[in-house]
Amino acid sequence: MGIIAERLNSILQTVPQNVQLVAVSKTKPIEDIMEAYQAGQRHFGENKVQDLVNKAIMLPKDIQWHFIGHLQTNKVKQLVPNVSLIHAVDSWKLLAEINKEAAKINRVIPCLLQFHIAEEDTKFGLDLPEATAILQNLQAEPLSHVSISGVMGMATFTDNTAQIEREFAHLKSWFDQLRNQFFLYEPQFNQISMGMSDDYLLAIEQGSTLVRIGSSIFGSRNIH
Ligand SMILES: *Cc1c(COP(=O)(O)O)cnc(C)c1O
Repeated sequence: MGIIAERLNSILQTVPQNVQLVAVSKTKPIEDIMEAYQAGQRHFGENKVQDLVNKAIMLPKDIQWHFIGHLQTNKVKQLVPNVSLIHAVDSWKLLAEINKEAAKINRVIPCLLQFHIAEEDTKFGLDLPEATAILQNLQAEPLSHVSISGVMGMATFTDNTAQIEREFAHLKSWFDQLRNQFFLYEPQFNQISMGMSDDYLLAIEQGSTLVRIGSSIFGSRNIH
């Protein structure tokens, strides 16, 4: 067994059945992805639209591609035919654009709302009032080609475990609040995408349903 399959299997042993592992293959070549695929992995994550599309064309069709990066509206058209979940929706404008392009190809695209949970302020994302405003807009003006499937967030890059736990716990509590307010009868709102190579075990303890793991599977990132 190759090193990628070995690392993947050892991580899978620590991930409960009800948590989906997304193997983050950004910057990694086709051969590395195929090694994980042959070991049984079917969910992969990319953060550049062009890379996701190129890889989706070349690789087996039963792969589910997760877009985990910041998405610009002018790239949505290219992305929608190839993506199975968009993790980082952070505006009404973006959601409306995804809906428009998805309608043209008759798809319904599952999307997560990205929250700003880190105490550092470098990362993208919504706060609770902003997310609430988007969901109120959606009630007033339903978009039939997007499906809000949950939330996503990235914790601060720090060794402070208590801080990381606190940030993940916030995301879980915002998820619960939004579910109670907007999705009580819509069971598709069920995903909490949180946790990366260094913090995924903490994220699972705090209720993650999707962990996005790159470097612990594929090794440190190649320069892109
Ligand atoms: C790169 C990336 C990951 C994976 O990070 P690792 O630390 O390599 O596991 C997860 N989520 C997002 C949004 C990323 O950009």
